[in-house]
Amino acid sequence: MNKLLERLIEKNKYLVQYGQVADYIPKLKSANPEDIGICLLDMDGNMYCSGVYNKKFTIQSISKVITLMLALVDNGEEKVFSKVGLESTDEPFNSLYKLDLSLENKPANPMINSGAIIVTSMIKGNHEEKFNKILEAIRKITNNNTIDYNREVYESEKETGDRNRAIAYLLKNKGLLEGDVEEVLDVYFKQCSIELDLIDLAKIGLFLANGCRTLDGGYQGCNIEIATILIAVMTTCGMYDFSGEFAARVGIPSKSGVSGGILSVVPNKYGIGVYGPALDKHGNSIAGFGILKDLSEKLGLNIFKICKRN
Ligand code: GLU
Repeated sequence: MNKLLERLIEKNKYLVQYGQVADYIPKLKSANPEDIGICLLDMDGNMYCSGVYNKKFTIQSISKVITLMLALVDNGEEKVFSKVGLESTDEPFNSLYKLDLSLENKPANPMINSGAIIVTSMIKGNHEEKFNKILEAIRKITNNNTIDYNREVYESEKETGDRNRAIAYLLKNKGLLEGDVEEVLDVYFKQCSIELDLIDLAKIGLFLANGCRTLDGGYQGCNIEIATILIAVMTTCGMYDFSGEFAARVGIPSKSGVSGGILSVVPNKYGIGVYGPALDKHGNSIAGFGILKDLSEKLGLNIFKICKRN
């Protein structure tokens, strides 16, 4: 397996020249566009990693999967999905124009910023408790108490987050967001700034693949029904406005973030973390897509694949 992962990195590393590191949050600009890494964990506890896998990066939008889990546990499906839809969208992640259309009564899904900010607001507790719940969940899933948020990235997000601010105030105006807008945004900026490495990310993948349960059974974050919803939402909405094509070409439920991380889940089998900060025009790791596509083919991981019959 290690050899295979090494080969896939070698094969796909040329792609980084066609990508760009995110620069709309100034602190993200310092990432090395040449970095590529992957970690894969299986249900027997085996870990296979290759490339740049122990460098820390911020989780960014991948945090939206964890906040959705917590909001669903705290409020139940009916309440959460009365405020945010379950439909994919071809809008970019930070789009806000639809929020001002009178026909639209809720954001399309919890993976675009408008939906994710509502989801964060629905986690029970004041803003400090909300963030602590998110951080605690990630620490328990990864069994890594050293995980924290990166203060510089958080400050940078906060300083330049006017688009998210505009989204949140519109949501408040539409009655979709409860509580203090600035406090909810503060939690959102912090959750995006949580820093981890690929081993941690693969552990989150394995936790989801195992129905929101750590392998040792020490932490059960949600029930199997919620785990299924999380994986379905990743499949339909996890790769920005490339989610449909990603599903068709790779077929592995995944969620990416603008710092170049991709969290991938092969239900009942593997948790996978991929890192490559050079992004394509949709905001997904450009080499990460290539690696996952090849890995899916090599190991037959496409969940939509039909088996040949005689
Ligand atoms: N902090 C980012 C934002 O909301 C998250 C973006 C992402 O990873 O999609 O702008």
